[in-house]
Amino acid sequence: MKLNIVCIPGDGIGPEIVAQARAVLDRTAELYGHEMTYKEVLLGGASIDVHGVPLTEEAIADAKAADAVLMGSIGGDTTKSPWYKLPPDKRPEAGLLRIRKALGLFANLRPAVLYEELADACPLRQEIRQGGFDMLIMRELTGGLYFGERKTYTENGMRHAVDTLTYSEEEIRRIAVKGFEIARKRKKKVTSVDKANVLDSSRLWRAIVEEVAVEYPDVALSHMLVDNCAMQLVKDPAQFDVILTENMFGDILSDEASMVTGSIGMLASASLNDTKFGLYEPSHGSAPDIAGADAANPIATILSASMMLRYSFDLDREADAVDRAVKAVLQEGWRTADIMSPGCRQVGCREMGRLIVEHLEGGEQR
Ligand code: NAD
Repeated sequence: MKLNIVCIPGDGIGPEIVAQARAVLDRTAELYGHEMTYKEVLLGGASIDVHGVPLTEEAIADAKAADAVLMGSIGGDTTKSPWYKLPPDKRPEAGLLRIRKALGLFANLRPAVLYEELADACPLRQEIRQGGFDMLIMRELTGGLYFGERKTYTENGMRHAVDTLTYSEEEIRRIAVKGFEIARKRKKKVTSVDKANVLDSSRLWRAIVEEVAVEYPDVALSHMLVDNCAMQLVKDPAQFDVILTENMFGDILSDEASMVTGSIGMLASASLNDTKFGLYEPSHGSAPDIAGADAANPIATILSASMMLRYSFDLDREADAVDRAVKAVLQEGWRTADIMSPGCRQVGCREMGRLIVEHLEGGEQR
């Protein structure tokens, strides 16, 4: 398969972690007979330094022409970097919001996986975390409360504020389809999360999700109220496979789910549009405090690259090989500083990438 990937190293640790993810992709391509070509594109602070703006029209055109985008992270130290003296629409983060919008990315996927080897980082009690967990939060990204009409006004001397939560049938349908499609690649279980006992938008959400479910008889669907879901995530996280939810609920639940894994350097993410195209990036930021020190954990970016293989290219076998290589390296006790624990062996970003590449060769099961 020929794959054209736009690579956005970004700022801070971005270039270091993306270099390792590319090395893993290159080795995977070599092992499985694919051809990857990369085009490097500037975004965020790196683009401000060269072009004076956080995102250029050429960068958007390059990303649109690619099969998928692999990104590091963008932004600098918000208290010290000169980028944050610029007006808000010229700062690094403005570029990220703009590219997401330009690419029509409406589905955000955030896996939360607890690896047995990193169980000590999990803040949950041993009897809850034993056996690990592996869930994926599928969050609607472009509708709902964050994009509805809003206003602040004064009436009879009293200040009021209004935000509107709107969803169309079509917005719900397209994210539900993505949720069921992705569940088919996993444990075939969707938990749709809403607040249907109170909100009209949630009642429509539930009705449309049920309509879509008819097309996926092999996937088990259940519904859960968002307040219960927040409790279940810390009480019994292993019950979940795909959690499908709207924008604000997903914003909150995905942070909760990622924190129960306890390891920010391990958390991958993807944002998809209505084709197979996606933007893949770690959930963490650009970690300016450790940039250039070869101390960053590249695993979140490597796992994001694995998601790209699985969800944009349907290369599940190749993605499985990458996931296995990461697991094997952790099983052997190799750790970057952020996930270090007694008895393990500490390595830097480059060495962690090299080890994963090496285990791709060894762990191969064709
Ligand atoms: P951060 O995620 O960059 O860092 C938080 C802490 O986690 C830091 O101590 C950092 O060293 C550590 N950390 C993060 N990723 C790590 C990794 N891979 N390996 C080891 N340690 C890691 O969050 P922040 O400090 O709040 O933000 C820094 C910059 O990143 C800001 O400019 C922010 O706007 C930006 N940011 C960008 C994105 C993105 O590109 N999508 C997301 C979040 C934050």
